Amino acid sequence: MNKTIRSRVHRSSTPRPSTAAFAWAVAAVAFLAAPAAARAQQASAGSGPLYEPRNVKAAYAAGTRSRDGMPGPDYWENHASYRITIDASPPDRTIHGSEEVVYRNSSPDSLPALIIKLLMNVHQPGAPRFRGVSKDFMTSGVHIDSFAVNGAAQEWKDFPYAFTWKPVKLPAALMPGDSVRLHFTWHYDLAERASREGVIDSTTYYIAYFYPRVAVYDDYEGWDTMEHTPSHEFYSDFNDYDVTVNVPAGYVVWGTGTLQDVDRLLQPGPLARFKNSFTSDSTIHVATREQMLAGKVTTGGGAGATNAWHFTAKYVPDMAFGLSNHYDWDAASVLVDDAGGRRASVQAAYNDTASDFHHMVQFGRHSLDLLSHTWPGVPYPYEKTTEFQGGAGMEYPMMANDAAYKDSTMSRFVAEHEIAHTYMPFYMGIDETRYGFMDEGWATTFEYLLGVEDMGKARETKFFDQFRVNRWAHDNSAAEDLAITTPGDILGGAALGINEYGKAAIGYLAMKDLLGDATFKKCLQAYIARWHGKHPSPWDFFYTFDDVAGRPLDWFWTNWFFSDHYIDLAVADVDRAGDGYDLTLDNIGGMDAPVDLVLGFADGSSKTVHETPAIWEKDQKRAVVHVKTDGTLTSVGMDHQIWVDADTSNDGWKAKGS
Ligand SMILES: [Zn+2]
Repeated sequence: MNKTIRSRVHRSSTPRPSTAAFAWAVAAVAFLAAPAAARAQQASAGSGPLYEPRNVKAAYAAGTRSRDGMPGPDYWENHASYRITIDASPPDRTIHGSEEVVYRNSSPDSLPALIIKLLMNVHQPGAPRFRGVSKDFMTSGVHIDSFAVNGAAQEWKDFPYAFTWKPVKLPAALMPGDSVRLHFTWHYDLAERASREGVIDSTTYYIAYFYPRVAVYDDYEGWDTMEHTPSHEFYSDFNDYDVTVNVPAGYVVWGTGTLQDVDRLLQPGPLARFKNSFTSDSTIHVATREQMLAGKVTTGGGAGATNAWHFTAKYVPDMAFGLSNHYDWDAASVLVDDAGGRRASVQAAYNDTASDFHHMVQFGRHSLDLLSHTWPGVPYPYEKTTEFQGGAGMEYPMMANDAAYKDSTMSRFVAEHEIAHTYMPFYMGIDETRYGFMDEGWATTFEYLLGVEDMGKARETKFFDQFRVNRWAHDNSAAEDLAITTPGDILGGAALGINEYGKAAIGYLAMKDLLGDATFKKCLQAYIARWHGKHPSPWDFFYTFDDVAGRPLDWFWTNWFFSDHYIDLAVADVDRAGDGYDLTLDNIGGMDAPVDLVLGFADGSSKTVHETPAIWEKDQKRAVVHVKTDGTLTSVGMDHQIWVDADTSNDGWKAKGS
């Protein structure tokens, strides 16, 4: 990793900075090596059953992770606490912020410098982006107005070689076990064009990724110096947050975490309705557009008056906020933890014209109910979720920013996907930037399983194939066939989308088919129990499943997650054998997919035989399936369900003369 950064510095075609600045830049990035423990152990590390990159081997050797899939005895991760105040005064697009960060170094390494992420610099001219953007996406980025370390003001030195992350040399190295206190004031403009954040309308904003934060420093990648492009999403430590959003009176702020002092913010009517929603199954209109515009919702008022909306959350990876002076506000709640009788709040904030959002609280309740009680079958781990109408289809801790759709089936589907993200990446601390299949793949898996509950298997399978699988199945694309575990920062376009979403999801679902529902759920729940609040790597996931299933699954993981295979099964031969027939299947594409064999008999009857990926365990090129029958087989066909086959012309067999 530091090789890449150093070469970027040396090979930069930008004008060479002054010698002093250049030396500083090189010094500042020189510490970005792999963590010391990992470096020391690298040469002597052994191997697991799967391909392991050398930095992962080093983590096993250092004891921060363990090959039984558990966190190692020396596992560590860093945390911070953020106390943030931001001011927003629509239609003024400038957001002003100040924050104090206390960052604790729990690693065994001394840190001479920190990496600070300024994610909103993705809007700056010149920032690396994965695809082109329109002019109204552009801003001048983040302006640091003041910066202090442990109370002493420091000059904010820009680092022109990176945009969304900046190295900051500390006056003294941060030693293992010590903390450092940082203070920032800053401002930035929201982009006119809302994407995952920005201006939704002149008096409705979505505010996310808005504050300077310390990048993740972990035990196997070291500092996370990946640019936010923004297609590769995020990697965040678990932090404690105390955030105050100052807005003009008349605005409501929805956000991550617990809203403090709500009695001070709402007038008696909406306050009572809001409080009632915490025990209500049915949707309560906390505030309507008419009430908002008539000044009947929030306290305060008068020209220039502001309200401070104060939210706190402990041990979450991020905070996000929506604000508006005219959105409808609905709320209800749902039982998520039967044992403790715990309910979670479900809220929706939306433009009154969005007909689907009038149902959104019930879609949200339904999602929380299914996620808590079916898949993954782990009680929703937070106090609330808020679906905020924006345009992104994007998840945030305890929030989603979703578009409105004419077809409310689509709205429910998107809500289920985004709310499913609560588990991965947020509860599980996934590095989405490198291993997006560990969060998008699971959100897509849950989306399918919830869809089956909602629409039945046949309809959901058709919908899922069309939306998530067909493109890869029928696109002769080397890029899309790259291994799912290919680090996300070197994937783009369809290769990124296919690998993170559909291909990963049908890989997980093929494993479910192999293990059976009960064992699969046991493995999944063990993975969640072992790694929530931590930073699992793909290998922690694979090895947990091996460990809990009690059998080596490396042949399957290698086949699905580390290969360039695709799905194309063929019927090679059909022979009478013993008490029935031997069906010889060829695996042309290489992927160990399940298949339904559809058998036709001379008497006109037919029968479907399901084969799990187990048929490929011994020989991944050819499988012989024995079908016991007294009948005379006249035809064989295949039904692929969600494991869509690239070439169905070789799927069939017919007896001679039939
Ligand atoms: Zn997603």
